[in-house]
Amino acid sequence: MKLILLGAPGAGKGTQAEIICDRLGIPAIGTGNIIREAIKSGTDLGLKAQSYVESGALVPDDIVVSMLKERLSDPDCDHGYVLDGFPRNVAQARTLDKMGVVIDRVIDIEVSDEDIIRRMSGRRVCGSCGSSYHLQYKAPAKDNVCDRCGGDLIIRSDDKPETVRERLEIYHDQTEPLKDYYHAAGKLYIVEGQEELSDTTRLTLAALEA
Ligand code: ADP
Ligand code: ZN
Repeated sequence: MKLILLGAPGAGKGTQAEIICDRLGIPAIGTGNIIREAIKSGTDLGLKAQSYVESGALVPDDIVVSMLKERLSDPDCDHGYVLDGFPRNVAQARTLDKMGVVIDRVIDIEVSDEDIIRRMSGRRVCGSCGSSYHLQYKAPAKDNVCDRCGGDLIIRSDDKPETVRERLEIYHDQTEPLKDYYHAAGKLYIVEGQEELSDTTRLTLAALEA
């Protein structure tokens, strides 16, 4: 099973990806996480990506594609995966096609800009393992501590309101056209993002079986 999760930044893709992956026993491949990891460990590609991420811009396709190819060659990807944050534009979708990757379904989580901006203010990530949390919707068991690894929870610099607006603009401009791309391929399933995380999960899992 190869899936793509589409949706605006903050729509809840990462959280749903983790849940789907636990269910299906396949890895979640989040390009945002891979890029942040590369920046943290100071690899060549990471250094090249850093300024783009900090300003909320998309990282150039060749850099992201190199990182993705490397990750997909790991053995845990042999039985499928959920892509979260890739593709981000039509060129990246064409690259996946050219790589011979056959996607089974694309699940698009729809959330209004207004709700996104409100939600992003509560978002936290684990500084060690990258797991995502939300003060309101997915609070950690212990304040500011990661349930998974015990790492400290932090606010990402690109979750600042100005940067969020910038990222939403890029989303509408470059990423949203992917809905047409995958609709034309008969692969698009739309999920209306709900106020309650568990309701979105229910609809997302239903879209996997529809
Ligand atoms: P979110 O989960 O908030 O949508 P991500 O964690 O997926 O954001 O991505 C954070 C940043 O990483 C993006 O703003 C962008 O700079 C970069 N990035 C992630 N995926 C891609 C991609 N497929 N192409 C280009 N840039 C990307
Ligand atoms: Zn953690």
